[in-house]
Amino acid sequence: MRWEARELGGTDPAALLPLAGLVRTVRTPDFAGVTFHEVLCRSALNRVPAASSMPFAWTINPTRGCLHRCTYCFARRTHEYLDLDPGKDFDTQIVVKTNIAEVLRKELARASWKHEHVALGTNSDPYMRAEGRYRLMPGIIAALAESGTPFSILTKGPLLRRDLPLLVEAARTVDVSVAVSLALVDPELQQRLEPGTPTPRARLDLVRAITDAGLECSVLAMPILPWLTDSEEQLDSLYAALADAGASDVTAGALHLRPGAREWFLAWLGREHPALLPRYRRLYAGGSYAPADYRKWLGERTGRVRRRHGFDRRPPRRWARSPEPVPTAAPPAALEPAQLALF
Ligand code: SF4
Repeated sequence: MRWEARELGGTDPAALLPLAGLVRTVRTPDFAGVTFHEVLCRSALNRVPAASSMPFAWTINPTRGCLHRCTYCFARRTHEYLDLDPGKDFDTQIVVKTNIAEVLRKELARASWKHEHVALGTNSDPYMRAEGRYRLMPGIIAALAESGTPFSILTKGPLLRRDLPLLVEAARTVDVSVAVSLALVDPELQQRLEPGTPTPRARLDLVRAITDAGLECSVLAMPILPWLTDSEEQLDSLYAALADAGASDVTAGALHLRPGAREWFLAWLGREHPALLPRYRRLYAGGSYAPADYRKWLGERTGRVRRRHGFDRRPPRRWARSPEPVPTAAPPAALEPAQLALF
C-alpha cells in the first residue's frame, strides 16, 4: 500500500491538537480526507465503571475515531474529550496508539492483573481499514493469549480474516469470542447509513470465514431502526442471511440515541428521510432509549424471527465481568438483551 506519510506543521490545525503523547500527524492519498494522529499511549487497558451495564470489566481501543462513519455511532461523543467534534472529526481525525501492544504486555504482566474478560471494538472498530497499515491487532491478540486473558472482538471489518490463524491459536488457551456487527442487509440503505463500512455481503462472508476457521461467530444486530429496518420482512431477510452464513447467535436491539450520536443521526435522518424526523423526535423525546413498549414490541418480533431461523436452540454466549462461571440461561425472548457493546 502506498503510504507517503508527511509530518504536518506550521499553520495546519491538525498539528495543534492537544494530544498526549503525540508523535506525528500523517495524511496519505490512500485515505483521502483522513488525518492520522500517531500517539504513544501510557495505558492500554481501560476499566469499565462498575455502575456500567456492560457485561465486561475492561476494554482496549487501539484507535479513537472510526473510519466506518456510522451515523448512529454512540462513541462519537468520546471525540469531544480530544477537543474534536463528534461529527466529521470522529470520522476523519483518527488517533492511533502505535505502541499499544507493548504497553499492554506490561499491564498484563502485573501481579495485580486478575485475567478478567477484555472487550475490543467498543469505541472504535479494531479492524477498520487503517489496521491494514498499522497492524496493531496481532500484537494485542498475542499479548492477551500469552497472558491467559479471555477476550472478545466486535467488528464490521473483513480485515479480521488476516488474523484468523492467530485467533484460532489464541482460542486453544483462552476463551475467545468473535462477533460481527450487522443489522441490515439492504446494501443501499447500509451505504447511506454507514458509508465507511464494508457491504452486508462482505460481512456475511466474514461470518462464514470465522466459522469455517472453527470459531463460533455471533452477530450484533444493532441498531434496528424504527420504520426503516424493523419490519418483519426486513428482519426475516437479515436472520435468514445470518443463519445461512453460519452465525452462532444473533443479539438485536433498537437504536440508542445518546448525545453526540443523536444530533448527527437526526441530521442524517432529516436529509434522507425528512418525513420520519417528527416521528423519531416523538419516539426519542424521553431520552436516549426508545420507549419500553417499542423495545418490548421489537423484542417479541425479533424473538419470533429468531426462533423461525433456529437461533433459539443454542444458549446465547455472554461475556463475563469476572472469572466467575458464565451464566448460560437465555433471557426471555420478549426482553431486549443487554447492550453488548458501547456502540
Ligand atoms: S458504530 Fe462501530 S464501526 Fe460504526 S463508527 Fe462507531 S465504532 Fe465505528
